[in-house]
This record gives sequence, structure tokens and C-alpha cells, in this order.
Amino acid sequence: MTDRPDQQTMESAETALRHVKPAVRALGAYTLKPYEPHIKLNQNESPYDVPRALKERIHAMLAERPWNRYPPFVASNFIQAVSEATRWPGDGILVANGSNELIQSVLAVTVGPGVSVVIPEPTFTLYRLMTAVNGGTAVSVALADDLRFDVDAIIRAAVDTDAAVVVLCSPNNPTGSSLTRDEILRIHDATDALILLDQAYVEFGGYDAIPLLQGRPRLVVLRTFSKAMAMAGLRAGYMLAAPALTAEVNKAKLPYNINFFTECAAAEVLRCRSELAPLVASISAERDRIHAEMRMIPGLRVYPSDANFILFRVEAPGVAHTEVFDRLLEDHGVLVRDVSKYPMLDRCLRVNAGTPAENDAFLDGLRSIMTQGEG
Ligand code: PMP
Repeated sequence: MTDRPDQQTMESAETALRHVKPAVRALGAYTLKPYEPHIKLNQNESPYDVPRALKERIHAMLAERPWNRYPPFVASNFIQAVSEATRWPGDGILVANGSNELIQSVLAVTVGPGVSVVIPEPTFTLYRLMTAVNGGTAVSVALADDLRFDVDAIIRAAVDTDAAVVVLCSPNNPTGSSLTRDEILRIHDATDALILLDQAYVEFGGYDAIPLLQGRPRLVVLRTFSKAMAMAGLRAGYMLAAPALTAEVNKAKLPYNINFFTECAAAEVLRCRSELAPLVASISAERDRIHAEMRMIPGLRVYPSDANFILFRVEAPGVAHTEVFDRLLEDHGVLVRDVSKYPMLDRCLRVNAGTPAENDAFLDGLRSIMTQGEG
């Protein structure tokens, strides 16, 4: 006997798909092509693993845990560590499997049909995707020509559409531009929307908005362990907001979303973050060095960045950005990110800071591609 339907009873896939929301069917999925490069500079990860001794301490703690038991209902050890690090009360903190999950949860409790979400673009694509999945309307506000935030246009769009949420990614992925304290406050004060401030890269530069949370119940700050904290593989992130709003967002979060490996590792890494601080400082210094060196290479426009990556446009008339991408990968073993399909980013690539040796390989490769045939 088999459960496979015979030809006559076989239904077309359309019978299932007609129940999927049209706004979802119209979307392209968030994806990333798999490559196995020698030097991987395409996902804004830390080039440095968590220090060996710290990992071993965490392994020993995990070995003691009963794997047959659920983790605690509230990830209180992790929340306590976040609370100590941020000086924000535990009932205003949610932890999750990466900040992705918190973007999803915040938008799940705020967005539905007829609800507007203001999104300055180009930016991280998940905001638009999750807005559409929830049936809301993404109101795109273009960055200025120099790819800085257009604060007046953001305010105008939020007021005109009576937006429920304004999403601000600062420093912004993939441009590297960030908002100042005053700019965040101007947007906050001129609108009555929730301000969802994604600070995934703030350890590398830009204004850290945690001090603004006090007394501002419409402000939500998201942070991740995937970049400066060197833990992308374990998936951890957190949200800071007023306790009343946090309790509402918590309703959209799945129970036991954080497994105890992640909870234990994230809490421990956070408590020992001074061990990671020199690595974070060296990544920011390398970002500045790559930026200065890239600016000397002809045919490129290199944008300033407060994050651990740099956006650049291939402007030389005879060189396609796809050729730069392919030759970096094939001839030099360096994988960067092609972001040319984002709005405003025609011919643009993004590279994240790696180790000094990785960055040298990238710079040598880029220099030779861009200067070949010159002179
Ligand atoms: N926000 C931004 C701006 C990002 O660039 C990313 C990852 N690329 C995330 C959130 C998601 O990070 P996490 O790994 O914490 O889900």
C-alpha cells in the first residue's frame, strides 16, 4: 500500500496555493546563494570565533544540562545578562533566535490590512517581507542621493500615512549610514508611530540609542549576537522596550523559542564581552583601513560606513559589477555580496571587514581587477 495519490485523485498545487494570501504569493523569498569561498566577506559576520577558553566553559555547562527537559519557560539567565549589560529592566527585554525573529514578532502584533509601515530604503529586506506577510502596506522612503537618511521625508511619510511603525536600521544594512541621536529624536517626536530601531551593527559605530528608551514607550531597540558578538551560528538577539509593549510583543513569540544552548552561550558571552571588545575594535579599525584603501582605487565610489561592512559602486565605464564579483571569487577566492538589485544600488557590491590578511587579499584582488588594462 502506498499513500501516493493515483493520477485521477492527484490535485493541482493550485488548490492549496489559492489559500495563501495574494500579498505573500507576490513576494520573492529571502534567500542567499550557497558558495564555499576561501575568504567569506558576504554576510557581515565576525571573522573571529568566540575565544576557545570561553567556548570550553560553555561546553562544560551544556554537558551538565538534561537534554530531555524543556528549557526554562522564561530565558531568565539570558534576560538577566542582557539587563546587566544594558541597565534596562528584565520585564522590558525579549530574547529570541536572532533579531530576525523579533522583527517578525514586533510586526506580527502591529501590522495587518490597512496598516502602514514606513521603511527607508534601501535597507534590510526582511522589514518589507514581514510587513507584506502580515498584510500591511510598506511605505518606502528613498534615502538621499548620498545614501544618508532623509529625515524630513521619513517624517512626512509617517504623518501622511498615519503609520503604525517606522523602521529605522542604524547603522543601515547595506549602506552603512546611520542616524544621529537628534535625527532619531526628531523622527520619534514628530510622529506617533512605534519606532522600531534595528541596531544590529551598532557595536561598530553610530549612535547607540539605549539611553533614549527611558520615558519613550514608543521606542523599540533590537540588537543581535550575530555580528560583533561572533555568534551568528547560535542565533541570538534581543529587544529592549517599555515593559507594557514588551508584554504585547511577547504574545507573538513562540514558547521555548530559545533553546538552552543559545541561552547559555549568549548569557556567558555577554558576561565576558570584555574578551571580545579588542576584536570588535580591530574590526572597526580594519573597516576604516579598507575604506581608505578602497578610495584610492580608480573607478569606485566608496560610501562611508559606521558598520562592519562597506558599500561600493563600480563606476568605471568598461567594468561591470558582475565581473568584479566573479573575478574576486574565481581569481582571488573572495566572496562579497552583490546588492545591485536593491533600490538605488545599481552596480553596487558590499564587503564586510575580515581579518587583516583577508582584507589584504580582497584589496589586492580589487586593485588588480580595477587597474587591469590601465596606463
Ligand atoms: N538586522 C539587520 C540590519 C541585519 O543585517 C541582520 C542580519 N543580516 C539582522 C537584523 C538579523 O540578524 P540575526 O542574525 O540576529 O537574525
